[in-house]
Amino acid sequence: MKAIRVHEFGDPEVMKLGETSDLSPGPGEVVVRVHAAGVNPVDTYIRTGKYARKPDLPYTPGIDAAGVVQAVGEGVTRVSQGDRVYTAWTLTGTYAEQVLCKASQVHPLPDHVTFAQGSAIHVPYATAYRALFHRARAVAGETVLIHGASGGVGIGAVQLARAAGLRVLGSAGTDKGKALVAEQGAHHVVDHHDPGYLDQLRELTGGKGVDVILEMLANVNLNNDLNALAMGGRIVVIGCRGTVEIDPRGAMSRDAAVLGVVLFNTPEDQMAGIHAALVAGLENKSLRPVINQELPLVEAPQAHVAVMESGAYGKIVLTP
Ligand code: NAP
Repeated sequence: MKAIRVHEFGDPEVMKLGETSDLSPGPGEVVVRVHAAGVNPVDTYIRTGKYARKPDLPYTPGIDAAGVVQAVGEGVTRVSQGDRVYTAWTLTGTYAEQVLCKASQVHPLPDHVTFAQGSAIHVPYATAYRALFHRARAVAGETVLIHGASGGVGIGAVQLARAAGLRVLGSAGTDKGKALVAEQGAHHVVDHHDPGYLDQLRELTGGKGVDVILEMLANVNLNNDLNALAMGGRIVVIGCRGTVEIDPRGAMSRDAAVLGVVLFNTPEDQMAGIHAALVAGLENKSLRPVINQELPLVEAPQAHVAVMESGAYGKIVLTP
């Protein structure tokens, strides 16, 4: 089968399309014929070799995929050959024609959800869900700022928060991104490059501040976030690409909390619950992943450049 292979860590060009052996499932495993593989920023960090998690070389990149079950191993009853599924973690990497998963790592993909959309669920939506409900413990009636709402995680968070009865404020850095965030359910959208947007947030909350902030770029925003919070507010740091100086008094004066989240830390039973909720949201159509661009597998290097550029508009997906 064809797969992207990485033989050395480095720039996007280290990803080469090559041939590897076809996969067959062992007991409790499933082989999925990949129709789409989602591209996440973390795939680029791993490719550089500087991320906390380093796969053994050579490896096939990619965490998220959707496709059709091609073969099931002994003892698998959860899915059958021919089922449409999306993956949540894999054993072999998703930038490939086939991927091997534990049976617990595949979830049903409703018929109305495209494969491209299916490959945009696990990392973005599970992170958004865990940040919003497990870490921030957001509840209906609260106000949430999705700080960076135009990308994969942000759009997921907007849809999840809106469906759960929160008041949703979102930010984006382009007019196109702002329009998308509004279309996906945000009650108000601000531009995080606009010098006056923090004042707008204050006005939008009647001076009270927001209860929860899901932060996509903490190294830029964390100090401002502290001052945008309501009493008892919570910030969940989802994305951070450097260090930042903060004045902790912003947190003290509000009894506020700064929380971290990393999807890799999710216990297995919690992940099963998250995906049960995500599948329900796909079924009732409150969750609708937005695809920006579909590229052939061979263009994985271009996809890794694009996913790190500003002006996000949903997900970038590779099609084998
Ligand atoms: P993405 O699709 O590339 O989206 C990036 C988002 O960040 C866009 O909405 C972008 O808006 C926004 N952004 C850019 N500059 C910003 C600023 N100054 N203030 C606020 N937002 C800004 O990436 P993603 O998949 O949504 O992931 C978002 C971040 O979370 C990435 O850093 C990723 O590595 C991280 N992440 C972490 C976890 C975890 O487990 N902790 C899981 C998934 C993702 P514009 O482009 O419109 O400016």
